[in-house]
Amino acid sequence: AAAITVPVPLGDRAYEILVGRGLLQGAGARIAALGARAAAIVTDEHVGPLYARSLAEALERHGLRTATLALPPGEATKSYAFLEKVCDFALEARIERGDLVVALGGGVVGDLAGFAAAVVRRGVRFVQVPTTLLAQVDSSVGGKTGINSRHGKNLVGAFHQPSLVLADTAALDTLSLREMRAGYAEVVKYGLIDDASFFDWCEARWRGVFAGGPERDEAVARSCRAKAAVVVRDEREDGDRALLNLGHTFGHALERITRYDSARLVHGEGVAIGLCLAFRFSASLGLCPDRDARRVEAHLAEAGLPTRLNHVPGGCGTVEELLDAMAQDKKVKGGALTFILARGIGKSFIAPGIAADEVRSFLKKEI
Ligand code: NAD
Ligand code: ZN
Repeated sequence: AAAITVPVPLGDRAYEILVGRGLLQGAGARIAALGARAAAIVTDEHVGPLYARSLAEALERHGLRTATLALPPGEATKSYAFLEKVCDFALEARIERGDLVVALGGGVVGDLAGFAAAVVRRGVRFVQVPTTLLAQVDSSVGGKTGINSRHGKNLVGAFHQPSLVLADTAALDTLSLREMRAGYAEVVKYGLIDDASFFDWCEARWRGVFAGGPERDEAVARSCRAKAAVVVRDEREDGDRALLNLGHTFGHALERITRYDSARLVHGEGVAIGLCLAFRFSASLGLCPDRDARRVEAHLAEAGLPTRLNHVPGGCGTVEELLDAMAQDKKVKGGALTFILARGIGKSFIAPGIAADEVRSFLKKEI
């Protein structure tokens, strides 16, 4: 299958993201080219039955020894307990320094298996084979890996870049419409951050992304290119990697309020509402034209995503609860909040020092 190649030029840790329909078929040769002798495949119990056997067989045909571990699906798996399981599994599979951990699944599998790869034998190489839209456009790119702690999400982890990312867009054919939409919110985010023409393209072509046409490959590749560009400029998030958090200060607060209960809200749904709030907040501060905020909302709504606080099933809590939830976000400094705001579509910027009172009066109008 033909692939679009997105380079991630990170010096001696440079790697490629390959995007294309049917890439899993040729995965054996591409992964074997990395020169490992063995691969520990980590997946979950939804994805494993669909894709793990053919991936393992493809690797074995190219001379790699494989072992596969399927974990329970869901955010709760990003835990110390499962980190131990994955590390022990990799050691059991006699994975050595030249060998590979292969993460086959969504962001949960990618974050957990990537972190295990970062720590097992003080670091082995890993390959991301993302199977959700969110993982293909976001979590598999950039090298952030980790697990959740009782103190919060993603608080224990490591930067560990993959050696290869293989995004087979045909794998998304089996993804639920809800998860597809959630990942799509992150695609739209890239247009909103700094690429107005990509947002225009999304408005015109989004149906093809969902239907699995060539637009899907293009959307994944453009998103990866956008994320890779930010990561290359600011690998460890000391600077403008924070732009990737557009919509996420509000979004994370909503996830916290709904207790990370995916029956109520999944991450991308929180992001969709968060993107709309970030634009309406920007408009209410006089920074951004109202018409841009309305366009953002209209597009996300047409793609089937929630856009308003009252779209949160079971409610979004009170203004004070929302503020508390935002204050727990790691981007808070001394009573003031750092937001990613926008002067318009494709014109986002980091706004430190937004007073809690400004947010409060905005949220009062929104609730
Ligand atoms: P997920 O991994 O939980 O996958 C969502 C659901 O889809 C699961 O039930 C999974 O089993 C199922 N699934 C996956 N692929 C499938 C397929 N092809 N067909 C059918 N079902 C499939 O969730 P996600 O949205 O992919 O990832 C969320 C995680 O990603 C969160 O833990 C988040 O913190 C993390 N994340 C990490 C980064 C990063 O930079 N590392 C960035 C964003 C998000
Ligand atoms: Zn996100």
